[in-house]
Amino acid sequence: MQDLKGRVAVVTGGASGIGAAIVEHFVQQGAAVAIADRDIDLAESLVKKLQADAAAKVIALRMDVTIGQEVEAMVAQVEHAFGGPDILVTSAGIGLRKDFLETTFDEWNRVLAVNLTGAFLCGQAAARRMVKRGYGRIVNISSGAGVRGIPGRAAYAASKAGLISLTQVMAAELGSHGVTVNAITPGPIDTPLTQEMHTGAIRAAYVGRIPIGRYGSTREVAAAAAFLASEQASYITADTLQVDGGMAATNYIINI
Ligand code: NAP
Repeated sequence: MQDLKGRVAVVTGGASGIGAAIVEHFVQQGAAVAIADRDIDLAESLVKKLQADAAAKVIALRMDVTIGQEVEAMVAQVEHAFGGPDILVTSAGIGLRKDFLETTFDEWNRVLAVNLTGAFLCGQAAARRMVKRGYGRIVNISSGAGVRGIPGRAAYAASKAGLISLTQVMAAELGSHGVTVNAITPGPIDTPLTQEMHTGAIRAAYVGRIPIGRYGSTREVAAAAAFLASEQASYITADTLQVDGGMAATNYIINI
């Protein structure tokens, strides 16, 4: 069954990791998808791979989510190429593992700019068009770090907590216009970002706190995003969906 047939989706950070799995899943579900990422080479190689299926509608657009003009130009290009967009997933994000007292002003600003301001700019550009057409689905990729005081995560956790709050306000304002806005809080997922940031000790500590006993796959996050982006989730908005193997129910806080 193709739950997203005829829909137009933008996936920021869609060239890699969770975003790339969402792009792949949405294309399989029948959506026309724009991969919006600053890594255009990676985005274009994903387009090539997906175009092995002649029915796939997918394009790659180079952009930086922190630059308002690039965001607006990207959404306008999507509208020109496919119409819409009907769906926005904000997966572009960067990590930082640094204690509060060690975090520099520049690091703080950079993490907030990509993870929070980026979602604000993309959400606004997409939602303006969704409101005009009376339909939209926005899914913000937050993090379990946004709902816990995890040591070493000051900037990252604050950006992801802010994203949950932004999701709720957007949902409250946009619901009457036919636009739903939800967040996903993944637990540890195997991606290039975690392969770089999670040492063996961190991985072992996380796995010990995950009831399902393993890291999640990008495909498992993509399935949740597809549900929230589909007609089936028509009465779900302002929600935060945990895709974390049950980790939020246990002691989430590791200090490594
Ligand atoms: P990833 O593999 O590093 O993918 C992120 C993508 O976003 C990369 O292609 C990256 O490009 C792009 N990007 C970064 N900054 C950008 C910008 N300013 N403008 C446009 N694109 C930009 O990361 P991931 O692990 O899939 O994470 C995706 C999202 O899930 C992030 O928001 C992350 O915080 C969240 N998350 C991940 C996990 C996890 O365990 N992996 C858990 C919870 C939440 P570059 O490679 O050039 O930076």
